[in-house]
Amino acid sequence: MNKQVDYIIVGQGIAGSLLSHFLLKAGKHIHIIDKGHEGAASRVAAGIINPVTGRRIVKSWKIDELLPFAAETYQELEHLLGIPVFIKKNIIRSFENNKQFTDWSVKSGREGMSQYMSDEYDASQWKGILDEPYAWGEILRSGRVDVAGFVEAYRQYALEKDFLNEVIFDYKAIEFTGDKITYKNIQADKIIFCEGWKSAANPYFDYLPHEAAKGEVLIIRIPEVKFDKLVKMGVFIVPIGEERYWVGSTYSWDDLDTIPTEKAKGNLVKRLKKALKSPFEILEHHAAVRPVFKDRRPMLGVHPEFPQLAIFNGMGTKGASLTPFWANHFTEFLLGNLELNKEVDIRRISFVV
Ligand SMILES: Cc1cc2nc3c(=O)[nH]c(=O)nc-3n(C[C@H](O)[C@H](O)[C@H](O)COP(=O)(O)OP(=O)(O)OC[C@H]3O[C@@H](n4cnc5c(N)ncnc54)[C@H](O)[C@@H]3O)c2cc1C
Repeated sequence: MNKQVDYIIVGQGIAGSLLSHFLLKAGKHIHIIDKGHEGAASRVAAGIINPVTGRRIVKSWKIDELLPFAAETYQELEHLLGIPVFIKKNIIRSFENNKQFTDWSVKSGREGMSQYMSDEYDASQWKGILDEPYAWGEILRSGRVDVAGFVEAYRQYALEKDFLNEVIFDYKAIEFTGDKITYKNIQADKIIFCEGWKSAANPYFDYLPHEAAKGEVLIIRIPEVKFDKLVKMGVFIVPIGEERYWVGSTYSWDDLDTIPTEKAKGNLVKRLKKALKSPFEILEHHAAVRPVFKDRRPMLGVHPEFPQLAIFNGMGTKGASLTPFWANHFTEFLLGNLELNKEVDIRRISFVV
């Protein structure tokens, strides 16, 4: 046996990276296996953190706990990796009519909501650049995590420290040895799968109710325009530096692959043209699949039959805000310091052989 570790982590998107970070902080030895982010959601996500969502204008699930924890974690990682990770920038959002705006305005005055939303935003500087809606509002304490930049920097860090192999994981090479597990030349207490949507093809976890959602995005250049906030106007327009903007996204539950399509591109361009009156140039077009389960909650826990196998997945559409908190929660569970929260525990799903 060449290497003995506490945990083998399969997958190094935002989930595998943050789980590794907390396990290492807890003094555990780990080894990561990831072929290289091929089709990873973490490579195409804008990483938007939006505390107020939905038609009903509600706070995102557990955001009061998630947000401060995420901010602290990303700051820690910025120090570790020497790159900016969490870019705090508010979101401005448009309203089409009086009803929408009044609903927003009323909610923004409510206790617990006012810290996240405002019904005042002066968009006069964007006249002729953005469409003129009925009204604007602002989402406070929001921002963007540079997910792609973070996972790439963490990959380099793991390679330098020699705890990552760039290969595809081979399920057939798993050997159960007593209460341990062996994978090729590595022995571990557990293998933790952080494979994103690819977990649907994992023979140990394919019984889970996967409902992954493909999404497509554009990277565009808008010459001589400098939005200092994220714009939500039928589509998200997110500044990513040097006149470049992330535009997204689409949702599709049918064609689960990472191939960009003309149909989705047409949809994005149409929505973008409605919002943006300035000329723009399309630089890139990407597709990836969000790891979503039926009840839209994270999926954490130990396999019901093989306790040497575990899963940390299901960050869905909100990986940037959810993952820090739940990676820490799962680490504390593995250390024996807490019970898994029932809403995210894999045991909420019956195991059918
Ligand atoms: C279009 C789009 C827009 C999004 N926008 C946002 C947003 O604005 N804000 C937000 O918070 N979230 C957003 N998301 C969601 C976010 O991207 C995900 O929640 C998050 O990236 C999931 O991370 P993950 O690590 O679980 O999965 P992934 O990023 O998919 O990573 C899984 C990793 O596992 C590896 N892997 C899988 N199987 C194997 C194997 N057998 N062997 C080796 N390696 C393997 C893959 O190579 C990959 O690197 C968006 C997603 C999409 C698709």
